[in-house]
Amino acid sequence: MSVHKPALSHSNSAGKEIENRRLGYVFNFSTAVGGLILMIFAWRQLNGDSQLLKYSLFSTAFGVWSVFLYVYCSGKVKLGAYIGSAVICGLILALTYTGGQSNTGLYWVFPLFVIQFIFLGPFLGAAASLTLATLIAVMLSNQHAIPANYEQTEIARALTSILTLITLCTISEFFRHRSHQDLSSQHTDKLIEAVTDPLTGLTNRRFLDAFYLPDCHRNEMRKFPMAVILCDVDHFKRINDTEGHKAGDTVLTRVARLLAENIRADDVVSRIGGEEFLILAQQADRESGHQIAEKLRKKLEHCEFRELNEGVTASFGVAEAIRYDRIEKAIELADNNLYEAKRLGRNRVISQID
Ligand code: GH3
Ligand code: MG
Ligand code: MG
Repeated sequence: MSVHKPALSHSNSAGKEIENRRLGYVFNFSTAVGGLILMIFAWRQLNGDSQLLKYSLFSTAFGVWSVFLYVYCSGKVKLGAYIGSAVICGLILALTYTGGQSNTGLYWVFPLFVIQFIFLGPFLGAAASLTLATLIAVMLSNQHAIPANYEQTEIARALTSILTLITLCTISEFFRHRSHQDLSSQHTDKLIEAVTDPLTGLTNRRFLDAFYLPDCHRNEMRKFPMAVILCDVDHFKRINDTEGHKAGDTVLTRVARLLAENIRADDVVSRIGGEEFLILAQQADRESGHQIAEKLRKKLEHCEFRELNEGVTASFGVAEAIRYDRIEKAIELADNNLYEAKRLGRNRVISQID
């Protein structure tokens, strides 16, 4: 049952965050070290014949380092990976075109193909690699038009090896990607289970502490003032004793549904005790909180419980938190008000005590 789904956007994105962090580490390491290796090769080409090769190596080294710096400063790993991949594509084509040093350019395109998969993942990596492989095949089959000079047998073997490499990389990246998704969805399921009350489907206190309250802290301007409403079913023990525990459970589920269905989507209701619920209504002062509680009280009073011989009522205690650091105090105050509502005869809302 799910009455009020926990707003777990944070946990849903946790898997993506982990994957992004992994990409960030691999990206930073490979661009920093890769840039250095490229610079050494470029340096060695300083007096080489091919101007294009020399400039390609220098510009790729600087390009890779620039993207490294961009990602380091902006934190935009994904965009950095796309740009980095485009820079590497340029180098692959330049190596094939010029033949590199002593026509060994084709050997170096292999590790660069692997980088496409690391940066772009299985699908985009395969698409970029196949496009590149096609361009390489076109160049190699028109050798007269390029400076490089490859043996015919070498060309056939290089193309077959490139296709094999692309296939293997696609398969291995695809399954790595899938198992990562499985793990992160298992993680999310477990998290939802941990913050959901199994009887009513409402969120529990753990959800408030781990997700909702930290979110309130981060968005203080948008959330406050916040009305804190405590709701406690009246004479619930009597319902259990006369109608049985199962009927008591049904009552709790119905009350939970009624509360969840009558608050705003951005507000939250949690089951924080046996027959006790906490509602946190954002951008609502004590007066609005009182009105919300009064609306809920009336709805419950008029709700028909066919399985019971009597109606169900609840008492409400309301308080207002003007800032995040006042929430605990407001809950305490709302609890005192709830106690007062019970003392004055139940089935009422109290928001007076300061
Ligand atoms: P008051 O009007 O003062 O709140 O009286 P009350 O009887 O509602 O309060 P009390 O704290 O005396 O009793 C609460 C009861 O709720 C006792 C406990 O057995 C019952 N309870 C707690 N959790 C559950 C549950 O999950 N299911 C059912 N059926 N009963 C529960
Ligand atoms: Mg009670
Ligand atoms: Mg109680």
